[in-house]
Amino acid sequence: MSLYPLFANLSGRRVLVVGGGSVGERKVLALSRTGARIEVGAPQITARLARLVDSGLITHRNGTFEDAWLDHVWLVIAATGERALNRQIAAAAEARRLFVNVVDDAELSTFQVPAVVDRSPLMIAISTGGAAPVLARLVRERIESLFDASLGPLAALAARYRQRIRQRWPELGPRRRFLESMFGGKIAADLRRQRPLEAERALRDALEAPQSGAPPGSVAVVGAGPGDPGLLTLNALRALNEADVILHDRLVSAEVLELARRDATFIDVGKQGGGAHTSQECIHALMLEHARAGRRVLRLKGGDPFVFGRGGEELEFLRGHGIDYTVVPGITAAIACAAYAGIPLTHREHAQGVRFVTAQHRDSIDTLDWRALAADRQTLAIYMGLGSLERVADRLIAHDRAAGTPFALIENGSRPGQRVIRGTLATLAESAAAHEVQSPALLIVGPVAALADRLHWYGATPLTAEPVAADALRAA
Ligand code: SAH
Repeated sequence: MSLYPLFANLSGRRVLVVGGGSVGERKVLALSRTGARIEVGAPQITARLARLVDSGLITHRNGTFEDAWLDHVWLVIAATGERALNRQIAAAAEARRLFVNVVDDAELSTFQVPAVVDRSPLMIAISTGGAAPVLARLVRERIESLFDASLGPLAALAARYRQRIRQRWPELGPRRRFLESMFGGKIAADLRRQRPLEAERALRDALEAPQSGAPPGSVAVVGAGPGDPGLLTLNALRALNEADVILHDRLVSAEVLELARRDATFIDVGKQGGGAHTSQECIHALMLEHARAGRRVLRLKGGDPFVFGRGGEELEFLRGHGIDYTVVPGITAAIACAAYAGIPLTHREHAQGVRFVTAQHRDSIDTLDWRALAADRQTLAIYMGLGSLERVADRLIAHDRAAGTPFALIENGSRPGQRVIRGTLATLAESAAAHEVQSPALLIVGPVAALADRLHWYGATPLTAEPVAADALRAA
């Protein structure tokens, strides 16, 4: 035997909640959005319930439960916390053929209250028939993370235009195809980025267009974070679920790609170190080709797309070609590596600021403002610096940063094989060589780097590699 799901219209109808404690209060609050006429029956009620009574939003039947309380009532909730009393209420309701819910007691209840994901007017209700409420809650959390808040306005928009959509596509097949494109395409995206007027305009355009061609595609430029899939944002996860085509970088971890829609097309556009100009052009061409074919393209980048990720160039390109785009930020390597190494990037005693810099090429190194970078009381987070460690250390020291300034080199930050190498500027290059540090690795320079020795919590303990230790290591 299974339960029959239903959504009740309680507007203007009398509902009795017996019990005025915190549970009863929760039930009243949940009911208050339905427009029901709520009566709370109890000898005592909480202060919050009392305020609702005072403001005339609910009424209070003062005393212990009596059968007459059920007169004119449509639905009953028993939240007294006393089993015998709950049983009496359930029996009285049953005798009058009223549906009754006894809180946390499936046996005495003739209806159950599901776990709910509320995207009004869209409402998702989950029930395990009382078998495993905790499981229902877990499912609810999963669903909550799957659908963002724009789903409510989307459902409301579809409701408002329902007649016109029906007139425009009288046949079910084409109408369904249009609605699918509406819920997955530009109109949904416009609502998500807080542009309701544009969403409505796009819907009207679609209604007025002489014939419905393929809906235009779009590109989501998304940060995948440093590797640990737990560091994805909910928006990134949703984009992974929706994408038709995924163009991903070398730095995007396999665990993150695992979370994507199974039947999406995956294209690895990873550029090995440096990356020739043609590759970027090729990525542009691929984005354009797939978006023009009406697909939802996900441009997935390691870390954050706007931090040494060429995200800006890609947006310029898309804009230039009239392709719709959205951007989802990601946790950039500096933030993630610092956190996973136990290094606070700023610190009241040690660092008032932090700079993100890249030291990839000889030319770009020469254009950096070394005097500013060498200043005390700040932290440097240096991306793509593995090839220039010696030069970086030399320049900083030449501009008066102390040779004893701590550094931490974090390899594979937030990933299973994470290593942290610790030392001082004077021995930076040697230390990295001794431990054969590989890309991707992020360099943090400044007093805060030393805190990793005490505050580390993830993966292996930081390795120190001052010359003595390094020699010992080589000998081993
Ligand atoms: N957009 C990316 C950066 C791309 S540049 C971001 O926001 O993180 C590539 C550089 O980022 C690498 O050379 C390395 O310095 C750093 N990096 C990226 N992921 C890393 C990781 N998991 N661990 C250590 N460094 C990382």
